Amino acid sequence: MASEFDVIIVGGGAAGIGAARQLAAHGKAVLLLEASSRLGGRAFTQDFGGYPLDLGCEWLHSGDRNAWVGIAEASGFTVDRSDPPWTKAHPGIVQDEDEREAAQRAFQDWNERLPHVARGSDRASDALEPGGVWNAYVRAIAGFMSGVAPEEISASDYLAYDTASTGRNWNVPLGYGTLVAASLPSTVTLRLATPVERIDLTADGVAVSTRAGTVRAGAAILTVSTAVLGGDAIRLPSGTEPWREAAAALPLGYNEKVFLEIGRDAAFEPDAHAYGNLRDPRSASYSIRPNGWPIIEAFLGSDGARILKEEGPAAGFAYVSAQLVALFGTTVASAIRPLAATSWSLMASIGGAYSCALPGRSQARARLARPFEDRLFFAGEATHPLDFTTAHGAHDSGQRAADEVLASLRDRHRLGGRDPLAAA
Ligand SMILES: Cc1cc2nc3c(=O)[nH]c(=O)nc-3n(C[C@H](O)[C@H](O)[C@H](O)COP(=O)(O)OP(=O)(O)OC[C@H]3O[C@@H](n4cnc5c(N)ncnc54)[C@H](O)[C@@H]3O)c2cc1C
Repeated sequence: MASEFDVIIVGGGAAGIGAARQLAAHGKAVLLLEASSRLGGRAFTQDFGGYPLDLGCEWLHSGDRNAWVGIAEASGFTVDRSDPPWTKAHPGIVQDEDEREAAQRAFQDWNERLPHVARGSDRASDALEPGGVWNAYVRAIAGFMSGVAPEEISASDYLAYDTASTGRNWNVPLGYGTLVAASLPSTVTLRLATPVERIDLTADGVAVSTRAGTVRAGAAILTVSTAVLGGDAIRLPSGTEPWREAAAALPLGYNEKVFLEIGRDAAFEPDAHAYGNLRDPRSASYSIRPNGWPIIEAFLGSDGARILKEEGPAAGFAYVSAQLVALFGTTVASAIRPLAATSWSLMASIGGAYSCALPGRSQARARLARPFEDRLFFAGEATHPLDFTTAHGAHDSGQRAADEVLASLRDRHRLGGRDPLAAA
């Protein structure tokens, strides 16, 4: 049966949109199926009283080689290249400067021990100093970066990202999520609120089934998170078990955000940063009045993010409010009020924050990125060899999968097989 589509993309996050852009640029007929009622996936900007807050990705990491920078500027988005708030400690907070420096040095030392660990156990916790005074701080920072405890982090995976990062962190004031969702080419056919339930191989391509029916195409690109891929929401062809095993070796960690509104004048300087408690591994990192807005954004990782998952948003608000009072004094208690809290780990179509390879399993990324039977292709942040965990890594993985599809369709055409392009 001829199909009106060359390629079906499953998932409308940064990877799916990256793939769609590449295929559309080559004139292919693309259908994008997205489970939720919006585009963007883990890129999601929500407007709260005129402030576009990024609930998921926010920073254009490695900005000087991040594809979203070019996409943003080509479509009229402003990119703010100034230093991020975490480089600007808020003045006058109740925190000992020497202690902060000692904690940061301990984190550097942990980083410097990681290459040795990567050659051995590959368990990042083995690079912690036994009984180290600042291990709680190291755990919290590792939790921001990987979403899990160092016991669950592959040192070689962590280092691959760290070495490749250029350390430039830029920002789109209108929101990273706004940018990603606005970047799907208009020629792509989009079906929102259409979860894919099953993918089968056919003689000349794939059959992708949803509650609304089955659609055929020459190839499919699957971009769902490793939590979704490792679960049972999508039935995949037999023979794809190694891909599910690779996904299981790259579980999503826990990272959540809590937003507070500053209700009246308080001692909060704009575009500054504060770190909650150097001795608490659950501690949050605070962006104070980003872009001058009357907002505080608390970023939590690993055990800190679990507070939200296990005890709910009220417990999250209470935890970060108590930290802010300890830092800024009791007078701020009446100046801040809860605005929003995320729950990425509880969303069925996402299931966590970003992927982190288990110790000894960093090769799973390359395994997950392989095509299956030249019909089913894989993208998503977890498949990027270096820029995993990020929206630009997701974009580039989508582009890579799209290039694989284009080559496959060309080969099929050249070999005289039934070419879905010719049928379209
Ligand atoms: C709190 C937080 C902060 C972050 N901060 C940053 C940051 O500052 N910078 C950065 O670069 N990255 C950051 N990230 C990570 C970044 O958001 C992700 O790496 C990236 O957006 C992942 O894109 P993706 O396309 O691979 O996956 P996703 O965005 O998860 O896209 C997959 C899509 O598939 C859909 N889907 C799932 N199941 C189905 C189905 N059955 N059928 C159809 N569709 C389905 C999902 O709804 C989703 O839209 C952050 C993430 C979080 C959670």
